[in-house]
Amino acid sequence: SPSLVWFRRDLRTSDHPAILAAAERSPRALALFVLDDRLLKPSGQPRIDFLHRCLHALNDELDGRLMVVHGDPVQVVPQVAQEIGAGSVHISADCAPYGRRRDEAVEEALGDIELVRSGSPYAVTPGRVRKQDGTPFKVFTPFRNSWLEHGWRKPADTDASTLDWTKPDHSVELPAVKEQLPDAMKLWEEFRDERLEDYDKTRDRPDLDATSRLSAFLRWGVLHPRTLLRDCDGTFRSELAWREFYADVLWHRPETARENYDRKFDRMTHDNDVELFEAWTQGRTGYPIVDAGMRQLLQEGFMHNRVRMIVASFLVKDLHLPWWWGARHFMKHLIDGDLASNQHNWQWVAGCGTDAAPFFRIFNPATQAKKFDPDGAYVRRYAPDSPDIPPIVDHAVERQVALDRYQQIKA
Ligand code: FAD
Repeated sequence: SPSLVWFRRDLRTSDHPAILAAAERSPRALALFVLDDRLLKPSGQPRIDFLHRCLHALNDELDGRLMVVHGDPVQVVPQVAQEIGAGSVHISADCAPYGRRRDEAVEEALGDIELVRSGSPYAVTPGRVRKQDGTPFKVFTPFRNSWLEHGWRKPADTDASTLDWTKPDHSVELPAVKEQLPDAMKLWEEFRDERLEDYDKTRDRPDLDATSRLSAFLRWGVLHPRTLLRDCDGTFRSELAWREFYADVLWHRPETARENYDRKFDRMTHDNDVELFEAWTQGRTGYPIVDAGMRQLLQEGFMHNRVRMIVASFLVKDLHLPWWWGARHFMKHLIDGDLASNQHNWQWVAGCGTDAAPFFRIFNPATQAKKFDPDGAYVRRYAPDSPDIPPIVDHAVERQVALDRYQQIKA
C-alpha cells in the first residue's frame, strides 16, 4: 500500500527525512497539503501569498501531483489516508504548541495507521539539547555551545524522484500567483558567495542589502537550516542558533507564546491607548526609523532585524503597550512570522524573556537611526514624509515613565 506524505513546514523534496522514511515503507506515496483555517485566518495576505507560491513550487517539483485540501487536518488526513489505503502517514515534526496538539489529535484519529515523525524544521529537534542535569537551557550562549557539540544528522539523500507520487483524484486548485517563488538554493548561494564575508560588519544596517532574507524560506521549510549550516560559521551560524534556541524555549514552555517567560513582568502596568497603537501600526509616530520599519512591514511583509528591535522597543517602552499587541501585528504581517522566533524576540526586547535584554536598556530611536541608517537612505525609501510628522510622544519623557514602572516591579 502507498504511504501518505503530509507536508506542513517542510515544503521541499530535497534533504527530506520524512520522504526517506516513506520510501523505506513503500515506493509509492501521495503528497498532501491541508489548508487549515486555524493557521490561515490570522494571517495577512502577504503571508498567504507566500505560502501559495511555496505550494506552487512544490507542486511543480512533484510534477503536478500535490493534493491540496481545505479543512481541518484532524478530519482530512485520516480520510485521505483511508481513501488511498495508506499503510503509514509521514510528517516532519511540528514543534509549536498548536501543531503539537493537532498532530496528537491526528495520530489518535488515524487509529491503526501509523503516524511517523521524521526530522523537524530545525537542525536539532527542540527538547534534545539539555544541560547536564537534564533541565532546559535558559541562556543562549551555553545553549549554542551545547547545540554545536550535539551536531546534526547528515542531509537525507532525497529528491522528488525518491518516491513514485500518486496522482490525486481530487484537489482544490491553488490560487494563481503573480510571481513564482525564486530558487531558494540560488538565493543562499548568492548570499554565501557575495555577502556572507561582510555579514558580521553590515548585518545591522537596514539601508544595505546585507542579510540573507531567507527567513521565510526557513519558516516554510523550502530550505532546511542543515543546508545553510553546512557552509557557514561564525555570526551567521549563531543567528541560526537563535532560531533553534527560541524553538527549544517554546517547546519546553508552550504557554510563553502568550505569557511572560519572566513572571515578575506580570505586575508591569501597561497603557491601552488604541490611537497610539494605530499610529505605530501605520508608521505615523513621527519617529522616522520607527515609521520606516512599520511601513516596510506593511509593504513587504518583512522588516530588517535591527529595525524590528527598534520598533518593538518603541511600542513597549515609549508607548507602554503590551508586547503581545505588537507581536500579534507582526505575526499577521510578517511573511516569516514564526511563533517561537516572534514571541521570544518580542520578549527579549520587552525584557521579560529568557536571556532577555535588560529592561532598563532603552533604545533611543534617533541615536539608533544615526548609527544604523547613517545617510537616512532606509527612511527615505520607506517613510520619506515621516520627518515632517510631529512625534506622538516625547522619547525622553516616556523613557523615564518606563524606568519608573520597571522600578515598581523590580521591588
Ligand atoms: P539573517 O540576518 O540573514 O539571518 C539568517 C537567519 O537566522 C534568519 O533567516 C533567521 O532564520 C535566523 N535569525 C536571525 N536572527 C534571529 C533572531 N533574532 N531570532 C531568531 N532567528 C534569527 N524571525 C523570524 O524568522 N520570524 C519571526 O516571526 C521573527 N520575529 C521577530 C520579532 C522581533 C521583535 C525581532 C526583534 C526579531 C524577529 N525575528 C523573527 C528575527 C529576525 O529579525 C529575522 O529572522 C531576520 O530579520 C530575518 O531576516 P534575514 O533572513 O535576512 O536574517
